[in-house]
Amino acid sequence: MRLAPYRRIFREGVPILTYHRIGKPSEILPQVFERQMKEFYEEGFQTTKLEQWAEFKGPSNRRFVVTFDDGSLSVFQYAQGVLGRFGFSGIQFLVANFIGKKNEWATKGPEVGEPLMDKSEVRAWLAAGHAIGSHTLTHPNLARIDKKRAREEIFSSKKKLEDLFAIPIRHFCYPYGSWRQWVRDFVEEAGYETAVTTDPGICRNVTDAFALSRLDVGRRPRTLANFVSNFLPWTL
Ligand SMILES: [Zn+2]
Repeated sequence: MRLAPYRRIFREGVPILTYHRIGKPSEILPQVFERQMKEFYEEGFQTTKLEQWAEFKGPSNRRFVVTFDDGSLSVFQYAQGVLGRFGFSGIQFLVANFIGKKNEWATKGPEVGEPLMDKSEVRAWLAAGHAIGSHTLTHPNLARIDKKRAREEIFSSKKKLEDLFAIPIRHFCYPYGSWRQWVRDFVEEAGYETAVTTDPGICRNVTDAFALSRLDVGRRPRTLANFVSNFLPWTL
């Protein structure tokens, strides 16, 4: 999809863009991703980091955030070069127990069998100036599992990624966008600084860094309702 019609909205607050895989027609083709990044570049936008969330108030000042969920190898293959060409950086949310494997949590639909970045690819991603965050150990629906296991998923994935890559893991992404107050509180207690949701919206007047809204521009809207919930509130 073209982003130009949303130019005005993207200046009203900081857009946090959500992508998953790059390269399949059912999601987003590399050339479409490149065109979206080019649109931001030509508008004078620069990427910012989730660490700057306290500044996600008021107008965007032409800042935006690029996030990728799941650690897909396709992001390493197709998105990293594009981001680099425009001087942009992004963050990949990794599923700590599946690094270098496939997305075994997906059991049906076009997502099945997606290869994920391995350790050396993650290191190269970091060396290129990009960031990583946690997307749990095994990608469960946190609000639907028992609290002890949910806590383990949130706490242990942070530690595991920190041990593997020797950097602090500051950001968390709720699998399936599924969160409740108690899930959110575990994320804060674990020592993360922010958490991103799939609640649609532009970040402005952010009051809770553990419930950041995003815009899913990396998937073709499957239904009109999906499209409307992502963008219509921001066009009024
Ligand atoms: Zn995910």
